[in-house]
Amino acid sequence: MTNSPAKVYFGSIQHGARAKFASIGAKVDKIIELLDLSTIEKKDKVAIKMHLGFGDGYQTVPVFFVRRIVEAIKAQGAFPFITDNPTSVYNAVYRGYTQETCGCPLIPISGVKDGYSYTRAAEFHGVTEMEMAGALHDADALVDLSHVKGHNSCGFGGAIKNIALGGFAANTRWKKYHTVGQSIPYWDPDKCTPQHARKLVKSCPQKAISYDEKKHKLTISFDICNQCMECIKADEGVGCLKIQQENFSVFQELMAIGARHILNTFDEDKRFFISFLLDITAFCDCWGFGQPHVVNDIGVLGSRDIVAIEQAALDLIAKEGLDEKMIPPFIKANLDPLVDLHPFARLHGPMKNPYLAVQYAEKMGLGTSEYELIEVLSPEETMKMKPPKGVSEDEPTFF
Ligand code: SF4
Repeated sequence: MTNSPAKVYFGSIQHGARAKFASIGAKVDKIIELLDLSTIEKKDKVAIKMHLGFGDGYQTVPVFFVRRIVEAIKAQGAFPFITDNPTSVYNAVYRGYTQETCGCPLIPISGVKDGYSYTRAAEFHGVTEMEMAGALHDADALVDLSHVKGHNSCGFGGAIKNIALGGFAANTRWKKYHTVGQSIPYWDPDKCTPQHARKLVKSCPQKAISYDEKKHKLTISFDICNQCMECIKADEGVGCLKIQQENFSVFQELMAIGARHILNTFDEDKRFFISFLLDITAFCDCWGFGQPHVVNDIGVLGSRDIVAIEQAALDLIAKEGLDEKMIPPFIKANLDPLVDLHPFARLHGPMKNPYLAVQYAEKMGLGTSEYELIEVLSPEETMKMKPPKGVSEDEPTFF
C-alpha cells in the first residue's frame, strides 16, 4: 500500500448523448479497462463474489453487467466462476442468473450443505473462530462485485459486507455476526422485575425486545433496533437497561476482521472491487422481497482498494441524499435537516453509522479512505461526442 490516494473510477448513470458510448454499459467496460485485469494470470480461477438475492429479492447486480465482467476475465485466459451462499446459488435462476446468461458457472461458496469451509482464528468478543468459505479459499483471484444498499444491522451493505458476511459459512454469518452485539452487557437482571421487563418489551415500537419469563432473561435484537430510546424512557427510575454505541460497533468491527481474512487469501494485485450504486434500497438483498429505491440511481464504481471504494460509495450516497417519498412507511427515519447523519443512519439509527466499518478496515490496513474519484465518459464529455445516425432497426440485423 502507498500513502497516495487510491484511484476510484466512477461511471455516472447520467448520460450526455443518445448513444451507447455514453451509457452505463460503456462505462462499465471503461472501468474494467482502467482497473487493468492483466494481473489475472492465464488459467487463474477467479471468484466473482456477488449477492444473487433471495426469493423475490431481485434487486441485485443485473446479469447484463455480470456477463460483461465475466467476458473481460475470460479474455485474460482465466476461468471465472460466480459464487454466493448455497441457497442463493441454487435458486438464482429465478432472478435470471444461470451459466448460460452469466457466461460462467455458479458455485455454492461453502459447498452444497454449507460445510466446506476453512477455520480462521479470531479473538473478538467471544468469537474465537470464523468459517471462511471454501470456494473463496481455493480461488486465485477475487472480484468483489457488490450491489450497494442499506443494511439494518450495520447501516450499509457494499464491498466490505459482500465478503465479510458473504465470504463465510452460515454458522459464522448468523451465529457470530448477528449475535456479537449481545456481548456488550446492556441489561441488569438484578435491577429488573418480570413486570418491569414486560413493560420494556411493550415500549419497543420495533419489537426488538423479548423476555424469557422462565429464565428471567431480556434480549434486544440489535439488528432491528433503530435506537429510538423509547425503552430507555420506559426504564426511567429503574435504570436496568443501556443502549450503547458498542452494541452496534462490534458488528462493524467484526466485518472488518472478516474482510481482512478474505483479502489476506489473495495477492494484492489479484483483488478487484466493483460496486453498483443502482436500485439503492433500505434493506439488504437477502430479505427476499422487492423494495423501493430510497436513493436515486448514481452509477458504478471500480477500484483496487476496498476502503477507498466504500468511502466513495458512502460519500456519493450522502451527496445524493434520500428520496424521502420512497422511504417505506414502517421505517421511522430521522429526517431532521439540523441533524448531521448519513442517509443510511437516518434510516437505521445514528449508532449504525455506515462509515464505521470503513474506518475499522482502514485501521487494520486494508486500504485508504483517501481517494481520487476519476469519472469516465462523463455526461459533459459524451455531450461533445457525435452520436451515431439513427438508433432504430428497420430490419433484423442480429448484431
Ligand atoms: S432503542 Fe431499540 S430496543 Fe429500545 S425501544 Fe427503540 S428500537 Fe426498541
